[in-house]
Amino acid sequence: MKKKILITDRFAQDSTLFLSQNTAFEVVKSDSPLHLPLEHLVGANALLIRSRTPINEELLKKARQLQVIITATSGFDHIDLEATQKWGVTVMHTPRANIESAAQLTWALVLNACSQVHNAHKMIKAGEWRREDLTGLELSGRTYGIIGLGRIGSRVAEHAQSFGMQVVAYDPYQEDEVFEKYGIPRLSFEEVLKTADVISFHVPRTLETDYMLNRSHFEYVQRGIVLVNTSRGSVIKETDLVEALEKGYLRAVGLDVFEKEPLPRNSKLLNFQNVILTPHIGANTEEAFFKASQMAANKLFAFFTDGSTSDTLPPRVPWYGATPFKGE
Ligand code: NAD
Repeated sequence: MKKKILITDRFAQDSTLFLSQNTAFEVVKSDSPLHLPLEHLVGANALLIRSRTPINEELLKKARQLQVIITATSGFDHIDLEATQKWGVTVMHTPRANIESAAQLTWALVLNACSQVHNAHKMIKAGEWRREDLTGLELSGRTYGIIGLGRIGSRVAEHAQSFGMQVVAYDPYQEDEVFEKYGIPRLSFEEVLKTADVISFHVPRTLETDYMLNRSHFEYVQRGIVLVNTSRGSVIKETDLVEALEKGYLRAVGLDVFEKEPLPRNSKLLNFQNVILTPHIGANTEEAFFKASQMAANKLFAFFTDGSTSDTLPPRVPWYGATPFKGE
C-alpha cells in the first residue's frame, strides 16, 4: 500500500520529484496551506508543511492515518506538540537549513540601520542629495549583544567579530562551552541591554520569551542602540517599542517578524524613518528553500524506509516547556 504524502506549501521541485518518483509514495499537493481540504487529509500518512500550515487537534482528528509531520522550517510554534504527542504523530523539523540565511538577514538589517541605506535610497529617488542627514555608525570597536546564543545567534556573533566588534550574550540555557568557543562573556539580559550598541534577538517563542523586551527595559536603552529582531514577533511588545521610538530612545530598529503577520496597514511602526521592516524573509533565500526541502524529503524517506528519525519535536532542550500555542 502506497504512503500518501500531502505537501501543503511551497516545496522545491527536485525534492518533490525525489518523492513522487518513488513507487512507494503517492504525492498530493494542496494549494491552500492554511485550510487543507478534507479529501486531502483523509488517508494522508505524512504531511510536509511550512509555517503557514497550523497543526492543531482539529486537523489531527481529520487525518486519522497520519504517522509523521515534517515542517521544512526551524521554528515550530505553528504546531501544537501536545496534540501531536497525544495522537502519536511523529514530528520533525529542519533547523539547520536556514542558519546562514537568517544570520545574513539579521546583518542586512543591522548594516542598513547603521548606514541608513533605506533612507539614502529614498532620498536619491526623491531627487535629493542631503548627505548631512545620513550620518552613519561605525561598528568596529563597538559592542554587539546577542539574545539567544543558539544556531543563528552564534553565526551572527561570528559575523560581528569579523567586523571587529566585541560580542556579549544572554542565554541562560546555553552551555558554557559555547560561550567559551566564541570567547563571548555570559551576561544577564539587563547587562546586555545596558552595555551593547547593537542587540539582536535569536530566541524561540516560549512562555518566557513572549514580550521579553517591554517597557520595563526601555529605560536601559535610552542611549540610542540599534535593535534587530529576526526571531519571533512576540518577543518584543510592539506597543512599548513604538512608545520607546516616540521618546527617541532607539537609534534604529530592524524587524523581520511581528506580533501579527502580515503587519497591519495601520501599524505605527510604519511611521518611523529609523525603522526598517521586512516581511518575515529570514529563511527566504534560494539556498535555504532548497536545503529545507531536501532535508525534509530525506527525513520522510528515512522514516518510511527504516523508521529512523532526526530533529524530532518537541526538542530535547532545557528551555522547552509546555507552550501556550495550539498551532494557531
Ligand atoms: P536555536 O534553538 O538554535 O537557538 C535558540 C537559543 O535561544 C538557544 O540557545 C536557547 O538556549 C536560547 N533561549 C531559549 N530561551 C531563552 C530565553 N528565555 N532567553 C534567552 N535565550 C533563550 O534556534 P535558531 O535556529 O537559532 O532560531 C532562533 C530563532 O529564529 C527561532 O525563533 C526561529 O524560529 C527564528 N527563525 C526565524 C527566521 C525568519 O524567517 N525570520 C528564520 C529562521 C529562524
